[in-house]
Amino acid sequence: MKIDKHTVVTLSYELHTDSAENQRVHVETAPIEDPLVFLYGAGTMIPKFEENLYGKQKGDVLEFKIDCEDAYGEFEEEAVVRIPIKVFTQHGPLDTTRFKVGAVIPMQDQHGHQMYGKILEITNNDIQMDFNHPMAGFDLYFKVMILDVRKATHEEIAHGHVHGPGGHHH
Ligand SMILES: [Zn+2]
Repeated sequence: MKIDKHTVVTLSYELHTDSAENQRVHVETAPIEDPLVFLYGAGTMIPKFEENLYGKQKGDVLEFKIDCEDAYGEFEEEAVVRIPIKVFTQHGPLDTTRFKVGAVIPMQDQHGHQMYGKILEITNNDIQMDFNHPMAGFDLYFKVMILDVRKATHEEIAHGHVHGPGGHHH
């Protein structure tokens, strides 16, 4: 069976990124023992990722690159902001076990949407946070092996996700 809309795809992958300085960093893998399982065409994956998989079948091995603008976007300087320390100390002193450089903290924007900020610096007056996606500004290099392709059930299509192994259990 070939990968198409309304198929359930099981695959293993290796993802590397490539920064502007041309440094490749090993970022993440989904090994064969713990593969990625997803409903193709449900809008849960990067569209370019799905585009590269279209028509492929079990056993296929492929390598492709996704430019950063088709992945997590360019790095935005405006998404690096300083937030007054009082925002974090309304209910007592700053929890320094949680708030430290490098920590990723869930925050809310003015519309109540949750977003994640990575702490870059903590001063007496403010905390500098980076709200860019960790892979913003990086081109993504994928090496993928297709392990299985099956037809999605009507229920999976209605729910927009996979049931059973690697998916939802409900
Ligand atoms: Zn479901």
